[in-house]
Amino acid sequence: MYPNWILQRAYLTPLRKALAYKGQSWTFQELNNLSIKRARQLSALGIQQGDRIAIMGPSNPDLVVMLYACMHLQCEMVMLNRRLSQEEVAYQLEDAEAVTVFVADEDVLKLPPKTAHHLFSTIAKGTEDTLDIDKEWPLHQTTTIMYTSGTTGFPKGVRQTVGNHQASATASVFNIGLQPEDVWLCAVPLFHISGFSILVRSLLYGNQVYLYDQFDVETITQNIIDGEVTHMSVVAVTLERILHTLEQLAMKASPRFKLMLAGGGPVPVDYLTRAHALNLAVAQTYGMTETSSQTATLASEDAIRKIGSAGKPLFFNQIKIAEPNDDGEGEICIRGPHVTPGYIGRFAQKSATIDGWLHTGDIGYIDEEGYLFVIDRRADLIISGGENIYPAEIENVLLTHPAVQEAGVCGKHDSRWGQVPIAFVVLKEQVSIEQLQAFCSQKLAKYKVPKEIILTDTLPRNGANKLVRRKLLQ
Ligand code: ATP
Ligand code: MG
Repeated sequence: MYPNWILQRAYLTPLRKALAYKGQSWTFQELNNLSIKRARQLSALGIQQGDRIAIMGPSNPDLVVMLYACMHLQCEMVMLNRRLSQEEVAYQLEDAEAVTVFVADEDVLKLPPKTAHHLFSTIAKGTEDTLDIDKEWPLHQTTTIMYTSGTTGFPKGVRQTVGNHQASATASVFNIGLQPEDVWLCAVPLFHISGFSILVRSLLYGNQVYLYDQFDVETITQNIIDGEVTHMSVVAVTLERILHTLEQLAMKASPRFKLMLAGGGPVPVDYLTRAHALNLAVAQTYGMTETSSQTATLASEDAIRKIGSAGKPLFFNQIKIAEPNDDGEGEICIRGPHVTPGYIGRFAQKSATIDGWLHTGDIGYIDEEGYLFVIDRRADLIISGGENIYPAEIENVLLTHPAVQEAGVCGKHDSRWGQVPIAFVVLKEQVSIEQLQAFCSQKLAKYKVPKEIILTDTLPRNGANKLVRRKLLQ
């Protein structure tokens, strides 16, 4: 049994700041009191310990209190992505068989019609039950159920237990270190593991979270320049916007700012060199829903020497490459206490692990010094005339061109080669297709140069803002 994180943290450091949002802040004691009250209101509505419920709302203190209330009740929280369409939400609700949905008032129209729900505002006005809050949680208890992004197929509902989250937060701090004044800026969604893991770390470490309900690039960049925050989680797209803003302002990150954790997908090498020039320490990390956040992270001091690598596995984790080819490339497999015990719903029968190893569907290799390089998703591999082509390599080259904002590459059927790579590009400056092709020819083997480059305004992205390559050609 392990301590209820919220009670334990409020007991250890009651008066420390826990959360800041739009100029207001809350201590750990205040968050604990608010969430216990909310748990008693939920109990009065008939919610029972261990119930599986779904939650939807923007990243603000109301949502944090609701999440902590459900944790006090030891509910299994299905974290709904508020960027999904009604149809996608309907799929997840049906798959998860949640008893009800707790929804922020402003999000109620995002639910499919006739969905059983309780509005945050109604819950907050309700009466309180007398309820004893459990002081301990079993390690195997499911805290959250998060759906994968659905980049390669149907989203899968992943169980993330108390033990998974604890192992992940502990491994992270062994790697990154901690000081009491550290403040983690959270502008990634709380329904995603990137955001929720920031809350878990805050509870376990006792540090403050600066919460944003959206990615307000000006204010966030100012926080970094002023050194009001020390850590932040980003994905490639948001990292680029911060870099761009710093470059426009001709400003650098404050020396108080310590680390940007960049994950969720590959980070173009070009962004890492730009960050380096701006004093912005970036740690590339490799993780996924199934591993409750980071599995491997590259120390920022290695960022340039090992550019492009996702680093080494964190303390308790192991990584191996299954069935490597002659170059040592194969499927990345992961083992450790942060790996999910399994899926729910339609994938419940699919064991997440084989002999304890999670097979990720990602292709990578480990170099002679033990650093992991993630190459690409196996499902997106293009085979052209017998040669393997990874779309990410071509996208990375296109992204180093100053006129290119975004790039997506996929395979197209070709009668001679089987498949050939083609590219979809969003521009930020004028450039001709011929110039782009010539640029690629300088940097890539001939068979990797996109046979067609198509200009477009947007690329297909899913609710996690990830490029969905299988939709490029639709
Ligand atoms: P689905 O499993 O439904 O197809 P998804 O895999 O995109 O969706 P997530 O769990 O959100 O869902 O994302 C994890 C994936 O993101 C990893 O398996 C990997 O493909 C990619 N990824 C994460 N970090 C990195 C990284 N540093 N470099 C390259 N790819 C990464
Ligand atoms: Mg996946």
